[in-house]
Amino acid sequence: MELGISGKRALVCASSKGLGRGCAEALAEAGVDLVLNARGAEALEATAEAIRARHGVAVTTVAADITDEAGRARVLEVAGDLDILVTNAGGPPPGLWSDWGREDFIKALDANMLTPIALMTAILPGMIDRGWGRVVNITSQSVKAPIPQLGLSNAARTGLTGYVAGTARQVAGKGVTINNLLPGSHDTDRAVALERGVAKAQDVSMEEARKIRCSSIPSGRYGTIEEFGATCAFLCSQHAGFIVGQNILLDGGQTNATI
Ligand code: NAP
Repeated sequence: MELGISGKRALVCASSKGLGRGCAEALAEAGVDLVLNARGAEALEATAEAIRARHGVAVTTVAADITDEAGRARVLEVAGDLDILVTNAGGPPPGLWSDWGREDFIKALDANMLTPIALMTAILPGMIDRGWGRVVNITSQSVKAPIPQLGLSNAARTGLTGYVAGTARQVAGKGVTINNLLPGSHDTDRAVALERGVAKAQDVSMEEARKIRCSSIPSGRYGTIEEFGATCAFLCSQHAGFIVGQNILLDGGQTNATI
């Protein structure tokens, strides 16, 4: 399917690896020029070079912490006018409800709620002026069904979801859509880290740990970053202009719900 966004310009945050990279690759395949961001410059440059070579689009990089005000300002300055924004960052650490105090919540809210909101606040006016824009926020399946040990993430991402629900409806009439993509378990570095936890806790091999984790997913496997990226690119396409303020779950059926 022709997505109709060739020549558009996108900022994909936290995109040297994992889900962000999947989104960047799929947008590049659709002919979108990219601004990529991550903290580590080496992996970021390697990803940018691979995408340039594979898809022939322009790729600019900004090595910065997107959750930090100064880092974000640098990214926005280099990015300039944008048609597409994909927000993403690392998730908060796991723990117990009794572990967390005010500072932990402020950090999580800063990273996973206020950072995407700050990016939208900066970028939406230009999209509205030009009469076209697409925003996709990478959140989590924990927005639909809480993951008990990820209380900080549950709280921050649900806050963002509420903000998007209202804001998406305020900008939809200007040709700008905002939606959220909710990953379930995907095959990224994070999955390996979670497997390591299972392997240690249950004294099993990494292979066994992967089987255990996949056994709770009706699809029987993790999602791939290519599948995730393709969904993101569709949400950014000309065909998706009537999809407004939605939360699209990509979890292989793991969230056991009728709607
Ligand atoms: P990943 O494979 O670990 O990749 C994370 C990417 O983000 C890397 O490129 C990393 O590069 C960059 N990054 C992290 N923190 C950043 C920051 N503060 N500023 C700029 N770049 C940053 O992670 P992932 O699995 O793709 O997960 C992405 C997001 O989706 C996370 O918030 C995660 O909690 C959420 N999620 C993932 C899954 C899953 O199954 N993978 C499921 C649910 C939710 P640097 O380290 O060099 O900055």
